[in-house]
Amino acid sequence: MSTADSPNDLMERIVALCKRRGFIFPSSEIYGGFNGFFDYGPLGAELKKNIRDCWWNDMVRRRDDIVGLESSIIMHPKVWEASGHVAGFTDPLVDCKVSKQRYRADQLFYAAVRIKGKIPDTVIQSLLSSKRISEQLAQELRTADGSTPQIVGYVSALENEKTVEELNAGAKNYQRKHSIQGELALISNEASEETKLKMIGQGENWAPSTGATEFLMGKPKDMTEAKPEEIPFIPSPATGEPGSLTAPRSFNMMFQTNVGAMTDGSSVAYLRPETAQGMFVDFKNVVDTGRVKLPFGIAQIGKSFRNEITPRNFIFRSREFEQMEMEYFIHEDADWAKCHQEWIAWCQAWLLSIGLPESHLSLHAHPKEKLAFYSKGTVDIMFKYPFGVQELWGIAARGNYDLTQHATASGKPMEYFDEATKKKFVPHVIEPAVGVDRILLAALCAAYAEEDVKDDKGNVEKRTVLRFSPRLAPIKIAVLPLMKNKPEIVDVAEKLYRKLKRKWNVFYDESGAIGRRYRRQDEIGTPWCVTIDFETIEKDGSFTLRERDTMQQRRIMEPELFQLLEEHVY
Ligand code: ATP
Repeated sequence: MSTADSPNDLMERIVALCKRRGFIFPSSEIYGGFNGFFDYGPLGAELKKNIRDCWWNDMVRRRDDIVGLESSIIMHPKVWEASGHVAGFTDPLVDCKVSKQRYRADQLFYAAVRIKGKIPDTVIQSLLSSKRISEQLAQELRTADGSTPQIVGYVSALENEKTVEELNAGAKNYQRKHSIQGELALISNEASEETKLKMIGQGENWAPSTGATEFLMGKPKDMTEAKPEEIPFIPSPATGEPGSLTAPRSFNMMFQTNVGAMTDGSSVAYLRPETAQGMFVDFKNVVDTGRVKLPFGIAQIGKSFRNEITPRNFIFRSREFEQMEMEYFIHEDADWAKCHQEWIAWCQAWLLSIGLPESHLSLHAHPKEKLAFYSKGTVDIMFKYPFGVQELWGIAARGNYDLTQHATASGKPMEYFDEATKKKFVPHVIEPAVGVDRILLAALCAAYAEEDVKDDKGNVEKRTVLRFSPRLAPIKIAVLPLMKNKPEIVDVAEKLYRKLKRKWNVFYDESGAIGRRYRRQDEIGTPWCVTIDFETIEKDGSFTLRERDTMQQRRIMEPELFQLLEEHVY
């Protein structure tokens, strides 16, 4: 990955490549696009299918303890009542009444601008009349002696990898704009232990640093933490002005639709926001028909829909996306923590097997106080995207909450009969849940590279390459006849192409100089090119095999070529 660029530049180039080479397009582009929706073009569709196939083969077909399922997208509305989604699948939403922009409250950060120094009455009056501070803060400023930092206004910034810098820059700007003399207290995500210990004040997490010229405050707060009296003074990121942000309110993210001819309340149904509930609702059906024994899993791949308030970061957070989820049912007395750890390890190993670099992966355990009451523990596998380290795969230990909820709501028992102990109980579950689109984006970001290379004549040129693992690469190998006007060469090339195509996605390209043809394949991540040349037809039938990553070439015979593909594409 190119490091000289800002993350935005890099994302822009990845998005541009996706468009240029037919991986991903904005949905409904001829009508101006549709925010939060995307279309996968010919190469994107292949890449996505490869992710799904790898997961399905490794998760379901190559294991003895997991079976597949394909449940409907629209299920009985009672499913979503029992699961808790109707009441609780919400995000906190903040509106800007002026710009009509909507923000997720937990992604909109703010900070009080604090200045150490006596603030003149004229400045206080000006801040008050421009509605930057409340009457109460003004009163505090009038009586303060200026020896400790006092609040003189607020700044805001959206969550990104530079939120803290943006807040501090905003605070400096604010100080300048309002001509406030004095020493500005800065915000830090990395307040040292020593600084933290020195933090004083009730509920206010700022503290003067050890006599230095800067003051460090604690981490910035998000809008869910804003006090009602602060909200009118926090500026909207859209306008830069305070007074237009609403208090956070809950917004249910499920898309509603109506089923049948009536469009009244009785026909309301939902597009599923996750695939997992299908596995719980069909649990009994699978147990009764599938000859499964605990521990066992039910896996599903399918579309999910969430009316995300702020779809962003390309396909990272969209409104229609695809999930690969698996519910692994275990005995009520099983060692769930051990099983949880095993699944975390399995998921990490799987990500490596499809070529994601270990250096980009990390784990984040949800703190106990943030877990749902029924949850025993959740660990996310995080990926280092250009726009920050973000959740890729969540692995949750959910106890027997979901099955119990459905048993209560439907009146149908969800118990498992254990032959060995002759006991009935509701199994517990470990749930690894991942998004296909997020894996695809991670694979694209990790694979993208720009390098300076020398052409045949020794001139330096730029090559863009996607270093996809052969498992994921949309095209596994390109067949290139050296010349298109030599029937003997073309004939061999076409035969090889047809033969390879029976098993793999192969591309045939006979136009342009061979170097250019290699570059075109590099840019879409094709691991190998095979060239049929004069040596093929005049000597021993061998081909030139060119490797994408090393750009090295060697002669290869047909059986070895097939073996190479068999070995790497599984
Ligand atoms: P986030 O906190 O990022 O909104 P989440 O914790 O709500 O995600 P889950 O409900 O656990 O996500 O969904 C499981 C997986 O589905 C996520 O780890 C992610 O890979 C994927 N996913 C969730 N929401 C989206 C989305 N809006 N767009 C793309 N993928 C998503």
